[in-house]
Amino acid sequence: MTSKDVKIHIIGAGVSGLAAAITLKKAGYNAHILEQSTTVGGRVKTTMNGSMKLDHGFQVLLDEYPAAKEFLNLDSLNLVKFSPASIVFIDGKKHLIGDAQRDMSFAWSTLIAGVGSVSDKWKVFKLSRKLKQKNLIDIFNSPEKTTLDYLLDYGFSKKMIDCFFKPFYTGIFLETELQTSSRMFEFVFKMFSEGNATIPAAGIKAIPEQMAGQLDGQIKLNTTVKEVIADKIYLENGEILHSDYTVIATPADVLVPNLPESGKEWHSVQTLYYDTDEHGFDQPIIGLIAGEDCLSNNFHFLNDVFENHPKVISVSVVAKHNLTKDQLEERVRKELIEQANIKAGDLIKMMEIKKALPTFDSIQYAMNPTETQLTQNIFLAGDQLSNGSLNAAMLNGKAAAQAVISNIENGIFV
Ligand SMILES: Cc1cc2nc3c(=O)[nH]c(=O)nc-3n(C[C@H](O)[C@H](O)[C@H](O)COP(=O)(O)OP(=O)(O)OC[C@H]3O[C@@H](n4cnc5c(N)ncnc54)[C@H](O)[C@@H]3O)c2cc1C
Repeated sequence: MTSKDVKIHIIGAGVSGLAAAITLKKAGYNAHILEQSTTVGGRVKTTMNGSMKLDHGFQVLLDEYPAAKEFLNLDSLNLVKFSPASIVFIDGKKHLIGDAQRDMSFAWSTLIAGVGSVSDKWKVFKLSRKLKQKNLIDIFNSPEKTTLDYLLDYGFSKKMIDCFFKPFYTGIFLETELQTSSRMFEFVFKMFSEGNATIPAAGIKAIPEQMAGQLDGQIKLNTTVKEVIADKIYLENGEILHSDYTVIATPADVLVPNLPESGKEWHSVQTLYYDTDEHGFDQPIIGLIAGEDCLSNNFHFLNDVFENHPKVISVSVVAKHNLTKDQLEERVRKELIEQANIKAGDLIKMMEIKKALPTFDSIQYAMNPTETQLTQNIFLAGDQLSNGSLNAAMLNGKAAAQAVISNIENGIFV
């Protein structure tokens, strides 16, 4: 058997598993991906509803992610850029706050926006300059505290935190108390300052689809793995596959016997799509609802993002509540009108993503290849190993693949 004959399987065709397969393919190894669902992409999904592009949860690609530049052809994704600004609604009043370093036209509205003091806005400018100079290694080696403590220690006022940072980062971290690590805050803030939040013109699913297009026929959909023991993969349909190396690109504790349960908790989100007669904002921009006790956190118009798209509003609800679906639909509709003077029509779809983002005690940038090896035959990937982002998912897939390649090329045949 030559090193090229080794049997390599990857479990999961999310962006992490796809990045692992691409890395292996570039090195000349043909891995087979086993995916339980009917499509590639895992959490990165878009459902078409007629001509409507309904992403599974509001999700953006930050085009400065190092992994995005490595694994994606950004030009052919036809990325639609969100404006580097937000429209904040506080008690029915509208405030435009934007990054004047990127677009001077935001300077005046940002300065006068009732979203914090002039000193707060100066601090945002200073922080952005500081984080542009701080490299990723330093960010992920910095001592961790909660994002809330970080912002308070930086001197931001309660108003600035409540009216801007809370709704903006709740939409990203999918938790309402800014308890996520300051490392993640610095990383995301840096990515936003240096690049753009984008969505492919075809919807977020274009990302995994483009990655899958770099592989040739190596993905088996509708194939659920039940268990992985040493060099055997047990499928739910009773088949047993021999696998010299297996990359598990999804939480492994349910697949590998005797692994301690990770006990990992996940942040969830509900996304509500309404049709509307409203025109939109004439540009892709995120609306934030900073009203006290509002469940609606952030929203945008799909017709601002996608060309020739029907008029649709997407609203994210992150806060915990006990409302039924009907009650939530009504509550969000009411909040949109009261807080933002936006009239939502019929509900098109409500999506609940229970396991949207993994939680962490400590955030890392990405795994080193050697850290991904669980046993002689089994390697781990997925965002849940280091931080909940497309960047980490792809880099962890790459790290696991590099570890497999290094095992093979160092003659560690199993
Ligand atoms: C609502 C939402 C918003 C987000 N927003 C952003 C954002 O704005 N920016 C950002 O960078 N990231 C965001 N993320 C995070 C990003 O989507 C994830 O980090 C990334 O998709 C994780 O990829 P993954 O491959 O590690 O995992 P997954 O996408 O979960 O892939 C795992 C795959 O394994 C498959 N699988 C599981 N078990 C089995 C089995 N037994 N047999 C076969 N197959 C199996 C699953 O079906 C799935 O396809 C968001 C996520 C969500 C849900």
